[in-house]
Amino acid sequence: MPKRSSSLDAVIVGAGVVGAACAYYATRAGLRVAVVDRGSVAGGTTGAGEGNLLVSDKEAGPELDLALLSAALWRELAAVMPPEMEYEDKGGLVVAPDEISLAALRAFAEGQRAAGVTAVEAGTEDLRELEPHLAPGLAGGFHYPQDAQVQPAQAAARLLAAATAQGARIHLGEEVTEFVVGRGAVRGVRTRFRELLAPAVVNAAGTWGGRIAELAGTTLPVLPRRGFVLVTEPLPRVVRHKVYAADYIADVASGSAALQSSAVVEGTPSGPVLIGATRERVGFDRSLSVEALRRLASQAAALFPVLADVRVLRAYHGFRPYLPDHLPAIGPDPRVPGLLHACGHEGAGIGLAPATGALIAAALTGAEPPLDPGPFRPDRPFGPQPGPGEGR
Ligand SMILES: Cc1cc2nc3c(=O)[nH]c(=O)nc-3n(C[C@H](O)[C@H](O)[C@H](O)COP(=O)(O)OP(=O)(O)OC[C@H]3O[C@@H](n4cnc5c(N)ncnc54)[C@H](O)[C@@H]3O)c2cc1C
Repeated sequence: MPKRSSSLDAVIVGAGVVGAACAYYATRAGLRVAVVDRGSVAGGTTGAGEGNLLVSDKEAGPELDLALLSAALWRELAAVMPPEMEYEDKGGLVVAPDEISLAALRAFAEGQRAAGVTAVEAGTEDLRELEPHLAPGLAGGFHYPQDAQVQPAQAAARLLAAATAQGARIHLGEEVTEFVVGRGAVRGVRTRFRELLAPAVVNAAGTWGGRIAELAGTTLPVLPRRGFVLVTEPLPRVVRHKVYAADYIADVASGSAALQSSAVVEGTPSGPVLIGATRERVGFDRSLSVEALRRLASQAAALFPVLADVRVLRAYHGFRPYLPDHLPAIGPDPRVPGLLHACGHEGAGIGLAPATGALIAAALTGAEPPLDPGPFRPDRPFGPQPGPGEGR
């Protein structure tokens, strides 16, 4: 006979960084929550993320507003969380190979500044000072002091530990297979081992968020967008900021299913340099793509020639939770009373997790949301969906 638990205010499905942030802010607001995951903490895409907390790659609009709120919340969290989270407010540097791309960066930064981003133009001399090992011959770039970094799996684990200290219950290794429904509303979820009853269920299942929506009787077109990351041998600090070339911004915004790569290079406190990440929609294909790794390696060496002779220790991949308009789904689903979504953050879920958690906590308690949740409505029109064979 499965156990039954009914003294909860909310059940959160997913123990990735987004579910962890939802649990953290919900318990901070005084709610009793349970988090359930079929695997381990950060065993989904969070464990494959790089941990960039970027405002620099987002154009003015709702995602940037979410990123700016998140950047402020990450700073607050860093002050109260253990150092294992490896928060570093190191700043980002976007570089332009030529004058045309520098002019495009200038226009992009102008819009961001109006939204509250600090973007400082860097001439060739400044580039050398900011990053002494950068390739010569670049036209210039922009320095974004608000960009930062965390260790994603540690961040999720620390947020969950803080939520547990506030009374959250965590059930790992338990797959949600069914929703409990009564009087036209979601009343909880079932796993093989238990029934968790609550007036609200939060879908924080990342790339599998579409499946959870289906279980609840609705739809959310979340698709996997695969990414590879290269990890080098430990090095002394040769890369100080998050450094990437201007064309990365276009890659992020593109909805193409084809392989796209523009390296983001960053050092880590323990020494290895992370070089990420490719983007392609190939479903949940786990096979190694030598072409993806080759491109990342050559782009990183073009930015930092010193990396050309460095050994790569390993490569890993993950599947970003992609929604066709590149915005996450956050908030109550008006089609299914009692169901809330917090998924579909694509390549920015680590950065956007705290603001997502704060929005969900506000929705659960009826408090004033910290920003307008309208653009993230889960029932918004998503436009044309890719067909079979286009990376579904
Ligand atoms: C290569 C790569 C690099 C990236 N780099 C960055 C970066 O630098 N910065 C950034 O912000 N983002 C980055 N991302 C994106 C980021 O990793 C994701 O947006 C984020 O981790 C999503 O978190 P999540 O909690 O929504 O999903 P997940 O971490 O996938 O968590 C969802 C959880 O739901 C669980 N689940 C699913 N179905 C069920 C079920 N039926 N029952 C119970 N549990 C279930 C899964 O087991 C999983 O643990 C990167 C992604 C990739 C692939």
